[in-house]
Amino acid sequence: MVLPVRIAAALVLPLVLVGCRAAFRYPVEPYTSERPKQETLLKGMNPFILTNLVSTRVVVEIDWIEGHEPHAKAIEGIKETLREVCPPDKEIVVYLDDEIPLSEWEAASGDFLERAPALAAHLDHLPDVGSGEELIWVLFVPGRDELLGWASQVGVERDDRLSMVSTLFVFPDRIKKQAQLWIGPGRIQRAVAVHELGHELGLVSHPDHQERGNPGHCTEPHCVMAHQRLRGQFYNALPALFAGKIPDAYGDKCRADLETAQRLWHERAATDPGFVDRLGAQREIRELREQACWYGERQRWGEAIDRFKHARGLAEQFRDVAEETALEDDERFLKLYRFCPGD
Ligand SMILES: [Zn+2]
Ligand SMILES: [Zn+2]
Repeated sequence: MVLPVRIAAALVLPLVLVGCRAAFRYPVEPYTSERPKQETLLKGMNPFILTNLVSTRVVVEIDWIEGHEPHAKAIEGIKETLREVCPPDKEIVVYLDDEIPLSEWEAASGDFLERAPALAAHLDHLPDVGSGEELIWVLFVPGRDELLGWASQVGVERDDRLSMVSTLFVFPDRIKKQAQLWIGPGRIQRAVAVHELGHELGLVSHPDHQERGNPGHCTEPHCVMAHQRLRGQFYNALPALFAGKIPDAYGDKCRADLETAQRLWHERAATDPGFVDRLGAQREIRELREQACWYGERQRWGEAIDRFKHARGLAEQFRDVAEETALEDDERFLKLYRFCPGD
């Protein structure tokens, strides 16, 4: 009698577990666009880091506020992840730079996004579109509320020139509060750094596993790109309790997205002679649009409109209709809602 019961259990248990796994998944955002899902994926992913078609070098500069040191595990996480997702011949430089006195942070005002530009004097590199180098600035700074990290563009004005710097924030003080006996702050710092890096890579852009109401986050609770809310925490509670493990890598679906995007970009580059130039133009358009919004937010309309015009000129030149439409929408938004005096 015992054997059949065991066999039955062996057959049923995996089914139950598979069922549970599905039940723990977050709800997916309904997809309403007419654009093929594959194009939406490509639009969101970052070909400048993930291929060598436009840029062949990634520089990651890490600065931190005194008392908010980056853990070795976080730096390891950034290095390992980039090595894993980038082409083998991509040059990757990850380095620790300055410890910034706490007094400098305290002298600035506002939240971390408002204070970050005040730290720009510590930034050794500036992004240079067309130089073949991509820059990621990682800042370990005091956090806000319950946030553990954040990914955003930070505008840096230097010598009358505005640069938009891809910035990943990690908040060691908030992480320390979350850390428990069996999961040290190093592991959480690593998970947060890899998560924020995932945003910079363009995860999660595939509509099939994007969480409802939470763009850029994965529906798979075992993926580091999932938002660790109650359901995910429950799903991850056992491994966390027994092995001190939390998700700190991209899940199957996010990995598949990285591979699909890389394959498609290379296929297109091989068959379409204008493709790489268009990618380069997209890079420039993205930078100009971010600059336009930055100026717009500061009500410097002349500079904002100038950037929009330049970006639209590029989009026209490369017959990128989707980009042109998006730029027109952005410009209209600025004019209507921010009382831009217009051109
Ligand atoms: Zn996130
Ligand atoms: Zn995922």
